[in-house]
Amino acid sequence: MAIDDRRAVESRAERTARHQRVRLRRLGLSCISYALQILLTVVIALLGALTPLFVAGYAAAQVAIVSSFYFAFRTGLNLRSREPNLTLAQVLAPAVPGLILLYQLDSAEAQAAILLTAVVPLLYGTLDLSVASFVVAAAMYSVGYFGVIFSRGLLHVEDGLFFHNGLLLASLAIVMPQIVLLSALVNRLRRTLRERNYEVREAMARISVMAVRDHLTGLYNRRWLMEVLERERIRCQRAPYVFCVGVIDLDHFKRINDTHGHAMGDRVLKRLGRHMADGVREIDSFGRFGGEEFLWIMPATDLARATEVAQRLRRRAAELVFTGEDGARFSVTLSIGLAQNDSEQRLRNDMLLHYADEALYDAKETGRNRVVARSVKACSVSNG
Ligand code: GH3
Ligand code: MG
Ligand code: MG
Repeated sequence: MAIDDRRAVESRAERTARHQRVRLRRLGLSCISYALQILLTVVIALLGALTPLFVAGYAAAQVAIVSSFYFAFRTGLNLRSREPNLTLAQVLAPAVPGLILLYQLDSAEAQAAILLTAVVPLLYGTLDLSVASFVVAAAMYSVGYFGVIFSRGLLHVEDGLFFHNGLLLASLAIVMPQIVLLSALVNRLRRTLRERNYEVREAMARISVMAVRDHLTGLYNRRWLMEVLERERIRCQRAPYVFCVGVIDLDHFKRINDTHGHAMGDRVLKRLGRHMADGVREIDSFGRFGGEEFLWIMPATDLARATEVAQRLRRRAAELVFTGEDGARFSVTLSIGLAQNDSEQRLRNDMLLHYADEALYDAKETGRNRVVARSVKACSVSNG
């Protein structure tokens, strides 16, 4: 079984659906802010600084804004935008009813209260907007609110509101640059976090490969092979089933190291290992068991069939020609020990491997470069 098949891969559609859910959740969160804003206008109306009709219009505008974003996210309309989160729009839209509201107010206290809450939608922008977009949003807020406060002050010079509005302008001038600065800091944190997340994901992917792959050959390692073996053993216990294992040992491998050097020995292990792995059937699992030994698991295969395919593998391996540093050409032969497990024997894995090892030993003893199948009754040797 390919390792990649086991890894759940999130499809593009699933990822988009997940992002849309996050957008809706964020919109839900901002609804709290919209509701509180409406509540504030109700309180101001109760204090007599706003007419109920205006509050109704204001609330309707806010509901319309939220509904349009909800509609966009539900229908996927936002996905056509270059910025599918619609953050800039979500930050700027509530400023319009906010500015109209501020313009309506004559009460200095009410103006201060509204101004205090007016920057909240802008704060949401720190979570998503780039620094450039945030500066644009903050500039539009500043121009809008400065404009309204300034013109309101001019209209009420005689009421003393001009001085009061000057104070509001000063506070806005102090707050805005700091919000922009904070947004830049949050932005940097977000970028760092994204980079770290990427590194963690990369490391996880590397670790999951390392957990099942042999570092030298890139083939399955002993741990993974033992897991596969265990699954095969369990299948024997459930229903009539038969499978085989092959322990493969390179013949006189020590000589290769001695003659051509350890590095060449490594190259042989790598190339021959991969050559063998490419030669086994799709349903088989093949990997490095340790040193110059390989393990081959053949599901739903009896000893007779396993012997056939093992002979093929043995011949395939012998075809491979290596060239040493000195230009000498050589090839490597294999000895293979086979053993079978089935629903009748129900062998433990250590016993099964022990039998395969015994067969391998026999293959070595009887001349190497051969396949020996360890049947329950007796060993059958073949070198054809
Ligand atoms: P036989 O035919 O009886 O199997 O002879 P052999 O020389 O292959 O067997 P032996 O067990 O005497 O030696 C195995 C050699 O395999 C010794 C060891 O140095 C070498 N070997 C084991 N792992 C590695 C490895 O990762 N790289 C290299 N280059 N050599 C290895
Ligand atoms: Mg060995
Ligand atoms: Mg050997």
